[in-house]
Amino acid sequence: MSAPLVLESAESLARAVTQGERSAADVTRAFLAQADRTAPKLGTYLHRLAESALRDAEAIDRRRAKGDPLGPLAGVPVAIKDNICVRGVPTTCGSKILEGYRPPYDAHVVERLRAADAVIVGKTNCDEFAMGSSTENSAYQVTHNPWNLDRVPGGSSGGSAATVAACEAPLSLGSDTGGSVRQPAAFCGVYGLKPTYGAVSRYGLVAFASSLDQIGPFARSARDTALIQGVICGRDARDTTSRADARPISLDALERDLAGFRLGVPRAILDEAGEGLAPSIRAAFESAISAYERAGAKIVDVSLPHSRYAIATYYLIAPAEASSNLARYDGVRYGVRRSDGDLRGMYEATRGAGFGREVKRRILLGTYALSAGYYDAYYLRAQKVRTLIRKDFLDALAVSDALLLPITPTPAFKLVEKTDDPLAMYLSDIFSIPASLAGVPALSFPASFDASGLPIGLQVVGRPFDEETILRVARAYEREHDAASRVPAIALAEAGDAR
Ligand code: GLN
Repeated sequence: MSAPLVLESAESLARAVTQGERSAADVTRAFLAQADRTAPKLGTYLHRLAESALRDAEAIDRRRAKGDPLGPLAGVPVAIKDNICVRGVPTTCGSKILEGYRPPYDAHVVERLRAADAVIVGKTNCDEFAMGSSTENSAYQVTHNPWNLDRVPGGSSGGSAATVAACEAPLSLGSDTGGSVRQPAAFCGVYGLKPTYGAVSRYGLVAFASSLDQIGPFARSARDTALIQGVICGRDARDTTSRADARPISLDALERDLAGFRLGVPRAILDEAGEGLAPSIRAAFESAISAYERAGAKIVDVSLPHSRYAIATYYLIAPAEASSNLARYDGVRYGVRRSDGDLRGMYEATRGAGFGREVKRRILLGTYALSAGYYDAYYLRAQKVRTLIRKDFLDALAVSDALLLPITPTPAFKLVEKTDDPLAMYLSDIFSIPASLAGVPALSFPASFDASGLPIGLQVVGRPFDEETILRVARAYEREHDAASRVPAIALAEAGDAR
């Protein structure tokens, strides 16, 4: 019996649609049916697009029937984090303040996906304005980890990670400011790529911390990650920080072995997590190092001495930029307006009711850090430390071809476990934030499982615009291990029913 369609890779689905072995409409229907069954249990979507997805798929089938060439994601369903604009579709960023907002345009990445003949199937749940590590800061709903419904899916792109893990869509997009693609990818047992800062246009991504924000994909294999990254990257004049240096990734290049490859290992970084580092993560990390040695890589000791300041640095820079970016939600231009007498009263009522606790906390932190007299002591100093952190990475990557790091100190934690302790939540980003501050590309890949069956991810970090190399490193591991090919029972049972 052949495997259920929803378990197939994006690469093989696109090939089947292009060659006319399957219709885009059938592919879309299969994933929509899977999501009909699993999404209500998982809370993955804030808004589903079943009708328009089918219409788009049928249009792709008609174009094929006419003999038109199809794009590299022909008929492949893709889910979009709800802080990325899709024309005419509610975009809330998980916030009440944007309730009812429908952007009049597509984000650059959505334009690219459509041009590649992908099918947009919905908007996924996320932490409010992408602030969080568990998706519990969404103003609308909780998302559950497909591997264990009592656990968080990670955040802030928890919906996008969970939807791919549960095979509701083969691909999705999230955004990563300090780990929000990589950490949920690790918690959900899928791939999550944070591209080099500037590799993907931020046009149409609702801004959180502009000097860090980067859109990145989720997928269930290294090759599928490469496929969608090749579609969304590239220069866009509407984002002045986007660069032409990003290049499509060669799938053939991912298959090259690692003979003579120099893999940098910054072992001392494990100590930063102290007691907080789960033995299962340490064990997975050590065993991956051995696996890479067996695969022919040379292990190089490197150090990232300033990464110990990364969390402190990030929690100055990100809130500072957020406080400025979120000033625009004042009840005048977007979404909700609450009126309470005069103009000031309207601002206060709108922002008071519209923003959740975490967002308000960040606005307060950021406004404080940027206020007159404090700027030099906080924001400016944080930017200087950031430069040192970036230099550490570039130095380490001068003597190695890529770095191997953990991505999370523990597997997925329990729902509600950290909601009353923002500092504990912030500390869970300890391994993801350094690469964000450095602006270098970083990938979380499924490495193994702990004794209770929760996925464990590891992280590969590369040189600026060298996404291809980090995907190749992950692909080498994928060829020898089965962590990436396993799917959670909820997806399997449901996919089996659908057969
Ligand atoms: N968890 C981090 C935060 O709360 C990272 C979020 C992100 O990458 N968007 O800011």
